[in-house]
Amino acid sequence: MKTAEMQIILDKIKEYDKIFIFRHFRPDGDAVGSSKGLYTILKATYPEKKIYLQNADFSNYLAFLGGEDELLADEEYSDALGIVVDTATKDRISNKKYSLCRELVKIDHHIPIESYGDYEWIEELRSSCCEMIAAFYDTFRDELTITPEAARYIYAGMVTDSGRFRFRDVSPETLRLAGVILGVGIDTENLYANLYLKHFDEYKFEGYARRKMKITEGGVAYLYVTHAMKKKFGLSDEEASASVSLMDSIKGSLIWLAFIDNKDGTIRVRLRSRFVTVSELANKYGGGGHACAAGATVHSKREMKALIADADKLIREYKESHTDWL
Ligand code: AMP
Repeated sequence: MKTAEMQIILDKIKEYDKIFIFRHFRPDGDAVGSSKGLYTILKATYPEKKIYLQNADFSNYLAFLGGEDELLADEEYSDALGIVVDTATKDRISNKKYSLCRELVKIDHHIPIESYGDYEWIEELRSSCCEMIAAFYDTFRDELTITPEAARYIYAGMVTDSGRFRFRDVSPETLRLAGVILGVGIDTENLYANLYLKHFDEYKFEGYARRKMKITEGGVAYLYVTHAMKKKFGLSDEEASASVSLMDSIKGSLIWLAFIDNKDGTIRVRLRSRFVTVSELANKYGGGGHACAAGATVHSKREMKALIADADKLIREYKESHTDWL
């Protein structure tokens, strides 16, 4: 637990009358949950302060968690403390106006490849950034106020980023903090229904995708979701991207990749793995992320094939030197 870093951040929060909260673009449950969770705790604790969520894009599948504040004029930023959550690098911050803030705090659980905050609290072994917000609340619970609304945001991020408490970074501390947050009072049945129910068309697409996915000799499962496929099944980019999880339970396939056509002609890559680390592979293709969940962008089918070949090599090397995989 990095209590010294947390204390510095709390002191900064107390010092400022105006606080802007940022997260990464194309937000997932953890980005939305940690930004809105922190925002709601700070609003409840400091009703006299001006606190705003300042982000430039949204994810439709998380719309059930509610909206955010309108973007304020540039001059509003100069006397604000900016807090960026769940974002490893500057270029992934959703709202580029973050740099106008007087001082910047970074709270993150990704592998630290770039330092950009005046004050930073990084714990790459935390299963989610929401877990860090839960720890922040728990450490200063005598001073901070949590509400059921804040708890719902935080829990949503803890559940989604940890693969429902299955991934390797889930620790006794994760579950203890989940207990603290659950204890505030959350309608989990409603939360899970919002997170996990799918439209019928998505189910039909899943059947199609299972037929289309391929696997290399080494065991890299992959799927390329083209514009045509998206059109055929009426899929949003988010729905198309979710297809990566269709490949997460294939025996012997320690790495699985979804390639999704972007509107700008590039191809989004979602890399997932068990046992093997894929973040360095993502780095090689200009991306990043966690050991077992990372992302990148490729620009051609040739580059896609090269990435698949690299992943295949990674698996082979892993399988040759380990026996405990399946
Ligand atoms: P995704 O597949 O988009 O859910 O990404 C998995 C993880 O990798 C998330 O923690 C992302 O923040 C991170 N990530 C995804 N794409 C990139 C990228 N291009 N550069 C750096 N990190 C990324």
